[in-house]
Amino acid sequence: MTSGVGRFAPSPSGELHVGNLRTALLAWLFARSTGRRFLLRVEDLDRARAGAEEVQLRDLAAVGLDWDGKVVRQTERTALYEEAIGRLTAAGLTYECYCTRREIQEAPSAPHAPQGAYPGTCRDLTAAERARRRAERPAAVRLRAGVTEWTVTDVLHGRYAGLVDDFVLRRNDGVVAYNLAVVVDDAAQGIDQVVRGDDLLPSAPRQAYLAGLLGARVPEYAHVPLVLNPAGRRLAKRDGAVTLAGLAAAGVPAERVTALLLGSLGLPGSVREALAAFSPQALPREPWVLDPDSLLASPGPSRKCWVEQGPMSSDPAQPNISRTGCRAECRGAGRRIRPAS
Ligand SMILES: [Zn+2]
Repeated sequence: MTSGVGRFAPSPSGELHVGNLRTALLAWLFARSTGRRFLLRVEDLDRARAGAEEVQLRDLAAVGLDWDGKVVRQTERTALYEEAIGRLTAAGLTYECYCTRREIQEAPSAPHAPQGAYPGTCRDLTAAERARRRAERPAAVRLRAGVTEWTVTDVLHGRYAGLVDDFVLRRNDGVVAYNLAVVVDDAAQGIDQVVRGDDLLPSAPRQAYLAGLLGARVPEYAHVPLVLNPAGRRLAKRDGAVTLAGLAAAGVPAERVTALLLGSLGLPGSVREALAAFSPQALPREPWVLDPDSLLASPGPSRKCWVEQGPMSSDPAQPNISRTGCRAECRGAGRRIRPAS
């Protein structure tokens, strides 16, 4: 048991779908099973839709989750983020960047620079060049990274090394970048366990490196498998009735959704029972392939009729989804390191 803190941090861009709810259940199970507090943070710097936050909180409660303390919103925390950028700037660890997206794409990459890294165009401009470019367009602020790669340890993935480049801390429209806000918030809220979808694994090395620069403790990471549609792509609202409201309208109540999601994790059907049975090492490591139509067809919480898990194909020309689900997301962004045994 520990006195730490876990969290779930949705973007209020619309309703949560069953994939988001499954990740939220996992974050709650990881935190509560280790005696941690569990916080909710609304990541509304970007893509916020009016009313979405209320619906998301209602849905999280409806699947059986509870949380501690007040829900925090990123738009109310700008002073914290600016303080962190100020500290990095005072330490010589930031610079202004005037590049357009197109200029970055077309710039020749620096020798030995990993693919996808910022090419460093604005890193060493003279004062005169900066003044000239500043007059042309507003500047973004980038981190002056001292490394090109960083390694994190993940409960489910082991050691994972990924790209660290001079990533953006504040965009040129003035909005603080996700990577900076997440690191500052996790540090300020005492978060020592980050459980989220494994599409975010490639961001973890950047965030862990930045946490170190800011003198913050690097949290324990657990990047959990996503829910995929039958075509092997990340589940989305266009895939059918995949929100609690949509399922309720089709006669599937929230308790049954909870039971189905927990069943897909090999856990019994209520959050209390699941908490007692929860073990990270026993979790499925493959994406969960869900056909939304089968949710509606299901007469009850029978796993067989709607869970399709594991390899989809044995044809080598058609790589199976369960094996490629995360790799497709991570390709070019990171490299797996086998845990030393
Ligand atoms: Zn630039």
